[in-house]
Amino acid sequence: MLVDYHTHNQLCKHADGALEEYVQHAIQLGLNEIGLADHTPMPNDWDIEVRMYEEQFWTDYKPTVLALQEKYKNQITVKFAVEGDFFPGTEKWVEEFNGKNEFDYVIGSVHYLGEWGFDNPLYVGKFDHVDIDELYISYYDHIKRSAQSGLFDIVGHCDLVKKFGHRPKKNIEEILRATFEVVKESGMAVEINTSGLRKPVKEVYPSEQILKIVSEFGIPLTLGSDAHTPTDVGRDFDVARELVEKYGNGKISLFSKRVRSEVKI
Ligand code: ZN
Ligand code: FE
Ligand code: FE
Ligand code: ZN
Repeated sequence: MLVDYHTHNQLCKHADGALEEYVQHAIQLGLNEIGLADHTPMPNDWDIEVRMYEEQFWTDYKPTVLALQEKYKNQITVKFAVEGDFFPGTEKWVEEFNGKNEFDYVIGSVHYLGEWGFDNPLYVGKFDHVDIDELYISYYDHIKRSAQSGLFDIVGHCDLVKKFGHRPKKNIEEILRATFEVVKESGMAVEINTSGLRKPVKEVYPSEQILKIVSEFGIPLTLGSDAHTPTDVGRDFDVARELVEKYGNGKISLFSKRVRSEVKI
């Protein structure tokens, strides 16, 4: 059983290819399920340069995903999902938006600290003007609050702050343990996201330091490539598979209508 639960498409303006090309590539690879989980709209179309307009969600994304589910149902299971943003102050909007949709799952990602989209290559210069230790503390505080919000099913790329290679000087083991204790209580799964291997950090999200904690706490895993181009679907899943064997007893989570189940990889 192999699935890719984290894929994008051209609607977010920083990915290539139509939704259907992602599905077709997943079929070629022989995946059992593909999760279409593009960046969700934000209230008042905030930070629209990297996401679809809310209008496009209703008139394009949602109907296209549902049509693809039907069209390919004999070849692959297509999951209807989004990658949500945890951004303090938007919780009510997100809750209402999620409530208007029968998503199979919602990924909860932290891409902003304050108004700074820290994973956006356009704003990487800001890393030179902040204290990296403080940044990690703030980042994990946001991850913790995203878990406490109850809005999401999967913690997305849960050490994204390392994307451009910035590492804390202090040992953050205690911060990590406190964070993932809250994640465990939330019932969320943590994704193994292979896109970090294609970024300057050249490492899977999350690190093995985090996966050890995740495994010790018995937090379930999901798998995602975070593909922003169709040929990246399932990319580096041989590496991910090994991590699932090592840190997840060889099991991954599936989601249908926001209910989790578990299968052997
Ligand atoms: Zn993206
Ligand atoms: Fe993301
Ligand atoms: Fe993503
Ligand atoms: Zn992502």
